[in-house]
Amino acid sequence: MKIIDLITTNTMSLSFEVFPPKTETNFESVKTATEEIAKLRPSFMSVTYGAGGGTSKYTLDIAKNIKGLYGVPTLAHLTCVSSTKDTVREKIREIKAAGIENVMALRGDIPASLENADRSKWDYQHAIDLIAELKDANPEFCIGGACYPEIHPESTNQKEDIKYLKEKTDAGCEFLTTQMFFDNNLLYNFLYKIREAGITVPIIPGIMPITNANQVDRAIKLSGSFMPQRFKSLVDKFGSDPAAMKQAGIAYATDQIIDLYANGITNVHVYSMNKPDVAGKIQSNLSDILGK
Ligand code: FAD
Repeated sequence: MKIIDLITTNTMSLSFEVFPPKTETNFESVKTATEEIAKLRPSFMSVTYGAGGGTSKYTLDIAKNIKGLYGVPTLAHLTCVSSTKDTVREKIREIKAAGIENVMALRGDIPASLENADRSKWDYQHAIDLIAELKDANPEFCIGGACYPEIHPESTNQKEDIKYLKEKTDAGCEFLTTQMFFDNNLLYNFLYKIREAGITVPIIPGIMPITNANQVDRAIKLSGSFMPQRFKSLVDKFGSDPAAMKQAGIAYATDQIIDLYANGITNVHVYSMNKPDVAGKIQSNLSDILGK
């Protein structure tokens, strides 16, 4: 099932993200966690692609498993930066052969070791190059892309970031999932600006439940997201008590999701980080809203 068809209904829904194991040793535990999440019957599940493609085999294995065993629509992530055309084309063939219809077309982060490399020689510069490649390989793919309510860290300003985002959607990206954010007003502001710029595709807000204090620094470093005082107070108060922090973090994420639904968003994507208990708790907090 194509994600674009799932999210353009008026039904409120949740989707969950999982990440593949880094090594074969962890494969079984990740497989079990993703199966537990699949049993919650989310609208879809996304499977990330390891930076630089190191865990790419597992992305497809996990994605096939979710789709095959549980019939949950799956979104396979794919990155292109610093990869060759041959490698990317092979990955696309594998995705197509596995019957995965939805692909998240990403540039990927520039590996630290290549920061000073001559990028003009690379086969792919930006996500838009991968979108073209995917469309070429299979016009039937439903293609998603990433967007940044607080702008991409490499962009000099939001206007420029949105200009390139529009090029991505014009090139065939049918929906956009956002980077995590902790203040919904930033999302509403972003939505206003992209609609004004003529971007009409559905936006799927990405919500990261912060369930332990150690996650906070990492999340900010990764995303550059703004942490509202309300959230900082919660970490100050409960950060040293793991059970209390988990409960408070889940409640904060639930609150954000309810506000998003109340403001017209239909599908919210939860960065569930292979944690079935967190995914399950958020879903049960929303049981009457979701009718589950
Ligand atoms: P792009 O769309 O190419 O944008 C990157 C930068 O280049 C931006 O500053 C943009 O404004 C600029 N730009 C875009 N097009 C052009 C152009 N034509 N000319 C000049 N500048 C341009 N990473 C992974 O490794 N694996 C994952 O599975 C993964 N999943 C993600 C899921 C989501 C929802 C998000 C938000 C991010 C994810 N990432 C993942 C991280 C992502 O790879 C990085 O944020 C990366 O730095 C940018 O990827 P992108 O696809 O947004 O790039």
